[in-house]
Amino acid sequence: MKFKKNVLIPTTILFSLCLLFFVSCKDDDDLPCTETTWYEDADADGLGNPDVSQSACDQPTGYVADNTDTNDSGTVTQLHAAFAEFDADRVTVILDGSNYVVTATGRPNHETEYYPVDNPLHIEEDIDHTGAALGDPSYIEDGGDYEITFTIDASPDLTGDAVATSLGAQGVAVSGAYIYNNYEGPTVLSTMTAESLDWTGAHIGNMGAYHYHLEPHAFSSDDSNLIGILADGIFIYGRKCSATGDYPTDLDSSGGHTGVTQHNAAGEYHYHMINEEFFAGTEKYLIFEGPFMGY
Ligand SMILES: [Zn+2]
Ligand SMILES: [Zn+2]
Repeated sequence: MKFKKNVLIPTTILFSLCLLFFVSCKDDDDLPCTETTWYEDADADGLGNPDVSQSACDQPTGYVADNTDTNDSGTVTQLHAAFAEFDADRVTVILDGSNYVVTATGRPNHETEYYPVDNPLHIEEDIDHTGAALGDPSYIEDGGDYEITFTIDASPDLTGDAVATSLGAQGVAVSGAYIYNNYEGPTVLSTMTAESLDWTGAHIGNMGAYHYHLEPHAFSSDDSNLIGILADGIFIYGRKCSATGDYPTDLDSSGGHTGVTQHNAAGEYHYHMINEEFFAGTEKYLIFEGPFMGY
């Protein structure tokens, strides 16, 4: 009996140790997982480099599941095709490393009452030049300096948090003037201030430069035309999408979605003016309220 007992005890202990070891190992190292391929995203635009990858269960820092980035260094090698739509006499675009440097004159290439009466582009409209947020009757002065330069990331980072818009110019329109959001100074655009807007949704505010708040009929009226580029590097188009010829139904809270545009057959993230009246019953549509998705 003694002999048998002496053999039995060590065997039981050994079995228990093996069981513990097995469970322990399973928890730490052998947890079942499915490895997938992750691609390096050196320029942090949400697109991965198909030539640099690793397999892992969890997403490694600096890597993404996408593998469609054809230029992951971020260096700009050519202008985006959409820049061909901008008035070259009023908007200049320079490549600088990973950025576009966009400079606008702030002088629109179309008619408006805000051009002085002796300017060929002056037209008469019944506009209130003295709205609450506005100064004295004001015009786009011949000698006025309205130039603004935007340094815009050519590979917008779509992976981070959305960033609220601020006051002032949010981007440059194809016409050479600026795109503002839904604010006039510190307050939301009011119906009273809206009376100072011209036929193309623009006016001169207390910041001095001529700018658009609402659908700019000089170059977009219920269509998919390019309106301009915003400061976060995302292009913004009219209320319709060229991919379908209709109002997009999959827009996010910024009015953006990813898809084919008339300037990129491969598809990219872009904004649209949201097809929802800013002032009910007026058929007036805001260009962009934000937040920015490309910062
Ligand atoms: Zn304004
Ligand atoms: Zn679209």
